[in-house]
Amino acid sequence: MKIVKVVDNDEYIWGLTVYSTNTIYLKESLNHDRKIETLVHEMTHAILFESGYKDHTEDMARTIGKLLYLILKENGNPNTLELPNWLNI
Ligand SMILES: [Zn+2]
Repeated sequence: MKIVKVVDNDEYIWGLTVYSTNTIYLKESLNHDRKIETLVHEMTHAILFESGYKDHTEDMARTIGKLLYLILKENGNPNTLELPNWLNI
């Protein structure tokens, strides 16, 4: 899975997962917390897709992604929840 910046300025799109190229796009102008939250959400889409739930709904990804994000935040120091170094955003 490759994670790259989004140069799109569409205010309603924070992230996007393209399964055919195994790529997650993140909106470049998001603040750090929103980038992490969006990355977890997009990773949830990818996990569901790879688990065979190819027709999962946005609501499913939103619910699971939000819970996963909260679990990650509550079980670690939120200040240390960093984007991967190799992401270089
Ligand atoms: Zn989504």
